[in-house]
Amino acid sequence: MEYKSVTMPATRNIALVAHDNMKPALLDWVEKHQEQIRKHKLYATGTTGGMIANRLGLNINTLISGPMGGDQQIGALIATGQIDTLIFFWDPLEAQPHDPDIKALLRLAAVWNIPVACNQASADLLVTSKLFDTAFERQAPDYDSYASGRPC
Ligand code: PGA
Repeated sequence: MEYKSVTMPATRNIALVAHDNMKPALLDWVEKHQEQIRKHKLYATGTTGGMIANRLGLNINTLISGPMGGDQQIGALIATGQIDTLIFFWDPLEAQPHDPDIKALLRLAAVWNIPVACNQASADLLVTSKLFDTAFERQAPDYDSYASGRPC
């Protein structure tokens, strides 16, 4: 696989997802960092997004609920370059019926080398990084050469 440099714009496209037991933690985290986060374009799975919008009035692009396909929607938006940051508070203590979708979402985030935070400490570090509000170069798969059949 060849890689190319991709510029993440200073205004990020952030996906917010939390499993049910983790929703209070994500809501608290968004509230704590809302002044920082509201500068960016926000996406969320259905229930998570509805709860954030109700509590904080943030402008958020709400997708389908995670177990009904929302995780896959976010994965597709990562693969097409429309989401470049993932805050995903998944539940480490309870099995989820849509486990294959969760795995697929985390896999695509790794494939496309986007910043991911899966718990509050990592999300705190990510959002307070001095690089968070600036254009940032990341390496991503060069799908153009992959699709052209050129050897990788
Ligand atoms: P939800 O989905 O925000 O619709 O609850 C989260 C998830 O992926 O489980």
